[in-house]
Amino acid sequence: MARAADLELASVTKRYGDTTAVDSIDLKIKAGTYCCLLGPSGCGKSSTLRMIAGHESVSDGDIVLGPEVVNGLPPAKRGTAMMFQSYALFPHLSVRNNVAFSLKMKGVSKVDRSIKATDALKLVDMERYAERLPSQLSGGQQQRVALARALVTDPQILLLDEPLSALDPFLKIKVRAELKRFQRELGISFIHVTHSQEEAMALADLIIIMNAGKIEQQGAPREIFNAPATEFVARFIGGHNIIPETGGRKVSVRADRVKVSTDGETGTGAVVREVEYQGTVVYLSLATDAGLEMTAIVPERTFYERPIETGESVRVHWDASDVHELAA
Ligand code: ADP
Ligand code: MG
Repeated sequence: MARAADLELASVTKRYGDTTAVDSIDLKIKAGTYCCLLGPSGCGKSSTLRMIAGHESVSDGDIVLGPEVVNGLPPAKRGTAMMFQSYALFPHLSVRNNVAFSLKMKGVSKVDRSIKATDALKLVDMERYAERLPSQLSGGQQQRVALARALVTDPQILLLDEPLSALDPFLKIKVRAELKRFQRELGISFIHVTHSQEEAMALADLIIIMNAGKIEQQGAPREIFNAPATEFVARFIGGHNIIPETGGRKVSVRADRVKVSTDGETGTGAVVREVEYQGTVVYLSLATDAGLEMTAIVPERTFYERPIETGESVRVHWDASDVHELAA
């Protein structure tokens, strides 16, 4: 049922009075991509998403969906749909009527509404709950209804703003996997706003990292994790040590590539500040003799071959091939 389309943002800017929330960003998202807009609070993610949806006007630049510049089109005419949080479901309407609601607004006949709502509910495996009220469903089921409500308009692109933020950690991971599966089955693009690097890494084909209204880096999760372009990206994505070099340059080294030894001469002297057991791995917080804070992530088995304690003096080192240069 779904039609897929490419999306392009060309020098798109959003200003609110004196605030530039989105600063001339360029972006191409191929049809059928799971794209995550990732960045800290206030960096312009929601503004970008709302401009794509048509819920916010564009101050400058073009939003191109398929062959068409859609800047001037109202939300319902764009081929995009926004998935709202499950708590935005109407409590007094049945699941079916919740899903059919936007069609009613569009003037679709009662019979067609019912058919389309049933199709959308089938898509998310919720057909058998069609006559229930939202309060009679679990959190995960409500989230699926919210998804069906967005998909019923047959969008070319689905837009999701922090869709998992209201769910408990266990449900988050379950619904996350479902979103990915639905996206794959539908073959349309999902554009998913999140401030969680873990969520973005788990879901995305393409991660767009935003910082202060600009795109800091874009790429596949693995590309970004292995080659963060800037200090900002390396810090935001986590799991990296930032090491200043002479001349004001900086490099990064993945925390799981830092080796810690209690004997031998190689490397830099350091003191262990904290030891955190994490099950699969152990986190070591270190302060080097040069005054640098570092983290080493050691596999559990390796760690317990020679356990290290807080306060112990160690040496840290890493291979030259694990040193990654960051842009100034
Ligand atoms: P994010 O979703 O990444 O947290 P937003 O796009 O919501 O960021 O906001 C980006 C910037 O624009 C912030 O500085 C925010 O305060 C500002 N902003 C967002 N919406 C409005 C608005 N309706 N009016 C004025 N400023 C806004
Ligand atoms: Mg936001």
